Amino acid sequence: MDLIGVDIGGTKVSVCLGSEGGVIHAHKRLETASLGGPETGLPKIVELIGHLLRDENVELNDIRAIGLAVPGPVSTKIERMLTPPNLPEWVDVPIVQYLREKLDRPVFMDNDANAGALAEWEFGGAKHVDNLIYLTMSTGMGGGLIIDGKLHQGGTDTGGEVGHFILDPKGPKCPCGLIGCFEVFCGGANVAHRLQEAIRGGEKTAIKKIAGSLEAVDMKALLAAVKQSDPFALEVWAEYIDRLAQGIGMLVQTLNPDAIILGTIATHNKELVMNPLKQALPNFAWGVPLKYCRIEPSQLGNDIGKLGALALAIHGLSASA
Ligand SMILES: [Zn+2]
Repeated sequence: MDLIGVDIGGTKVSVCLGSEGGVIHAHKRLETASLGGPETGLPKIVELIGHLLRDENVELNDIRAIGLAVPGPVSTKIERMLTPPNLPEWVDVPIVQYLREKLDRPVFMDNDANAGALAEWEFGGAKHVDNLIYLTMSTGMGGGLIIDGKLHQGGTDTGGEVGHFILDPKGPKCPCGLIGCFEVFCGGANVAHRLQEAIRGGEKTAIKKIAGSLEAVDMKALLAAVKQSDPFALEVWAEYIDRLAQGIGMLVQTLNPDAIILGTIATHNKELVMNPLKQALPNFAWGVPLKYCRIEPSQLGNDIGKLGALALAIHGLSASA
């Protein structure tokens, strides 16, 4: 019980006590919205850690390190959160320095997708393989790359941002500024947005009825409509899978990985994603690297955020040893 993981997500902040083996002993959380800006939010995170330690009768001195998973983009070199789109007040925040000063323990930070890749590598189904890719597949399409057993950061910490390579330069505009990114086609928030536009434009489909209202139309409603063989939903889903296969195919061709682990959308809809994906992939990558690569949903479930934060602590300790 000697590591602390802090995972700052879009809706929840969670703080956990865990071990190097990935056992989470206890955790506490609060709503991300309740943090406010960094002036109020940073002390609240320290307070939450304090509560957890007191409740578990653990001394701060017994903690070897703190892993901190935050929304990107980040700079690991100057150890700051930069301009996270979901936390608009948290610009250029020296969060690592703050926690280090307040808690006097080693603190290691990275973005949530890189943390997820390390969690898969430390605790998941593809433990300690040489080359692993993790795709978050949630509201966005975050990516983390482990190459030759090391997390790949790149020169400006954007090395794993595969969600923003271009699948179609004539495609829809991405909030990042580019056009036709992998994330515009396969990130849950962008898919939901395009579905709402299509329905507003008069598209006949059961998706809105399933969701309850136009504003509630999301990936979940799309998948429920796919299960009911709604023709429009089937068409959208076929395109989704094709784009997913295109993105994954590019990764297989470029990096020849041992494993590609898929996050939220795949873990919650294993058959709807994996069966058609495996059929489509041979159109986008060579047979030999494709056959070699394990492509599967994450087995870490809802704990991946906490485990990612713990994995950052482990990774940071071993890198600084
Ligand atoms: Zn983009």
